[in-house]
Formats: sequence, C-alpha cells, structure tokens
Amino acid sequence: MKKRTFDIFISGCGVAGLTAAAAFGTAGFSVLIVDPTPPVTTQTADGADLRTTAFLQPARAFLKRAGLWDALAPHATPLQVMQIADASGPDGAIRTTAAFDAADISDAPFGWNLPNWLLRREMIARLHALDNVMLETGVGFADMVARTAYALVQLTDGSQVRCKLVIGADGRNSPVRTAAGLTAKTTRYGQKALTFAVTHDQPHGNISTEIHRSGGPFTLVPLPDHDGLPCSAVVWMNDGTKIANLAALDPASFDAAATARSGGIYGPLTCVSKRGTWPIISQIASAMNGPRAALVAEAAHVMPPIGAQGLNMSLADLACLLDLALDAGETIGDATMLDAYHAARHNDVRLRVTGVDALNRASIAGSAIAQDLRVAGIKALYGATPIRRKLMELGLGAKRQST
Ligand SMILES: Cc1cc2nc3c(=O)[nH]c(=O)nc-3n(C[C@H](O)[C@H](O)[C@H](O)COP(=O)(O)OP(=O)(O)OC[C@H]3O[C@@H](n4cnc5c(N)ncnc54)[C@H](O)[C@@H]3O)c2cc1C
Repeated sequence: MKKRTFDIFISGCGVAGLTAAAAFGTAGFSVLIVDPTPPVTTQTADGADLRTTAFLQPARAFLKRAGLWDALAPHATPLQVMQIADASGPDGAIRTTAAFDAADISDAPFGWNLPNWLLRREMIARLHALDNVMLETGVGFADMVARTAYALVQLTDGSQVRCKLVIGADGRNSPVRTAAGLTAKTTRYGQKALTFAVTHDQPHGNISTEIHRSGGPFTLVPLPDHDGLPCSAVVWMNDGTKIANLAALDPASFDAAATARSGGIYGPLTCVSKRGTWPIISQIASAMNGPRAALVAEAAHVMPPIGAQGLNMSLADLACLLDLALDAGETIGDATMLDAYHAARHNDVRLRVTGVDALNRASIAGSAIAQDLRVAGIKALYGATPIRRKLMELGLGAKRQST
C-alpha cells in the first residue's frame, strides 16, 4: 500500500483533536486526523456525549484562530458570574456563597458554555471546509516509529502515514503516549460524575454555581432556555456507588434528589435529558513529548471537572504547540521544538492538576472541621477583593483581558 504524507497526524477525534485539526489546518498545514469511533454529533443518538464545556475567555481567541468561533457563538451561553456555595448544614441548605463577577476584571464574560455534541458537529463541518485536512473514522493509530526527519505512523487498517509531527489527542489511555514510551501517574478517588440537563422556574441569570456538601461538588452551568423554561447543565460528583444509585432512580425521585442537592437554589429541578456517568481521576503524563510526538489534552492531563480547567488547558496546549510549529518552519516536529513544548506546558499542567486535586479532596471531605474550614475560606475569599481578583485571573488562565 502506498504511504501517504502529511505535515501533521492527529490521533483522536475528541473535542481536543478536532480543535487541533481545525487550528493546524487553518494555519496552512496538511493534516490527517483519525479515530476508530465516529464522533457523535446529535444530542439524542446512542453514545452521545451529554456533557457541556465551559470555555474560559482565552479559549475564544484560540477558537477564532481555528476558524471555529463564528459557527459556535450563536449557540454559546455566556457565563457572567461564577458562584461557589457551601451547603454542608444538616438540612442541605446553602450556608455561604461567594460570587465572582467577570465585570470586576473584564468587559467580557468569564466564558461561554456549549454542548459537546454540538461542538463536534460544528468542528467537523469546519474540517470538511478545509481542503488540506482529511478526517478518517473507523481507523485508528496503531504504532509509530520516529526517524530523524519524520515519523512513520502505522494505522489499524495496516496502512502507513509519513508525517513530521504526531499529535496524541487520543484520551486518557492514549496509544500515542504508550508508543512514545511515556507513562502517566494516575490518582483514583472512587468518584463518578453524573451529567444531565435540568429546567427550573427561576432564571439562572448567566450564573454558574458550584455547590459543595460532601462527596464532591454539584455544579449548575447555564444553558439556553428549553421549552420556554430556564435550563442548566449539571455535573454531580459523588462516590461511585452513590452515583450509580442516583443514575438508576425513577424520574420523580431523581428530580427530588437533584433539587435537594441543589439546596433549592433555583426552586424545583426537572431533568430534561438522559443521564451520563463519567469516572473521575487525576492523571499526568511523565512528559508532554516523545520523539516526533506531542501529547495534548487528556492524553497529557486529566482532572476532576472543577473550575472548568480540562479542555481549557487543552486549548492552551494547542496554542503553544501551534505557535512553536509556525516558528519552527521546516524543522517542525524536531527535538528542539518538542522540548520547548514540554518546557512551556508541563509545569502549568502539573500546578493545575495538583490544585484541582486539592480542591476535589476538600470537596469530598464530609467532616465538620473540613466543612467549617470551607465556609471560612469562602467568606475570606468573598471579603478580600485582591485575593478574589487574583483567583479570577488564575481561573481565566491569563492576566486582565478585555477582548
Ligand atoms: C463531567 C465532565 C465535565 C467537564 N466539563 C468541562 C468544562 O466545563 N470545561 C473544560 O474545559 N473541561 C471540562 N471537562 C474536561 C473535558 O471534557 C475533557 O478535557 C475533554 O473532553 C477531553 O477531551 P479529549 O479530546 O482529550 O479526550 P476524549 O474526548 O476522550 O477523546 C479522545 C478520542 O481519542 C480516540 N481514540 C482512542 N484510541 C484511539 C486510537 N488508537 N486512534 C485514534 N483515536 C483514538 C477516542 O475514540 C476519542 O474519540 C469535563 C470533563 C468531565 C468528565
């Protein structure tokens, strides 16, 4: 079989891989992206990803650069206020809240929320519009050999591809990571996340709220109205067995349980979607690069869904990799470029994975002391404007911005 040649080979058509293909394709590189599993691009299909992604401010600039933002913007719900609440009292009522308003640091909202199935649909449409990008599903990455000036990639159908750079965007069990001789350190919490959408009588006011009690947070993120009613996406984290029991409840009991866990913040909640479950882990790859290979997104870092860090960090990976690739010119994918990628990203990744791990452990803790500390911490943050501002900027992943 004849070998095909591309500048970039991308393993994985998750949201990160599809964004990578759009960004490198828009920049003029020839790209092949593959995935054994065709991405699901409707809300109701079997296997649909029922999560939504909250993109923080810097993500928009990168999505624009990838030629994606104009198609996504009409579907994006702005996140103007981020709120943290403690509901650890005996009745589950909310005891303390801290609200962070984006207006304090920027003219723009903190970010925008978008359903994952819709992201995939719009991203695939963008790839079809780029002549220099090929998307192939039903076939996957099998192995690679790095040579001095290029890599030879073996696909699962037995064919071979020659390229200058292999991007591993193939998830937490990344085959590219293994082929590149890299390892990953994994922390398990015994936790799962339940994802679903709810309607409620009270408007969400573009506020995203993380409610802490024990077992993990219950997070409500604004969505557009559903059947004329205010609507939010929910991520409910708890011990794996408890999540399995919740997922199996009949609709009325489930609505009652979700309403109770929300502390009644928007009044009664009605679940209007299927329920999805996701295992929660932290994971960090031993390095971001191997010979002719760069890891991005969950192939490099996984963390609990707290503070909308996961995919936003992935876009920071991609922005860094794309800048280095453009600077490298003919030497794209060589050791100098990829060592620079590792040096630029690994510390930030390590810091954020460690920080989110600490936040998750604090949220899991159900002891009275831990709960009182959390209430005190929320009060301190709420009261101290400079600390609040710094945290908001860190959450945005950037200093003050006004775009
Ligand atoms: C409940 C929940 C909520 C979240 N909310 C947010 C949020 O609001 N904001 C945020 O920034 N992040 C969020 N995240 C994190 C975010 O969803 C992930 O970071 C992101 O989806 C990871 O995408 P990925 O493309 O790296 O991995 P995946 O989505 O796992 O994609 C990997 C792809 O690789 C493919 N693949 C596997 N093997 C091969 C092979 N051999 N060859 C080719 N392809 C292969 C798979 O089929 C898959 O399609 C959340 C995570 C969870 C669990």
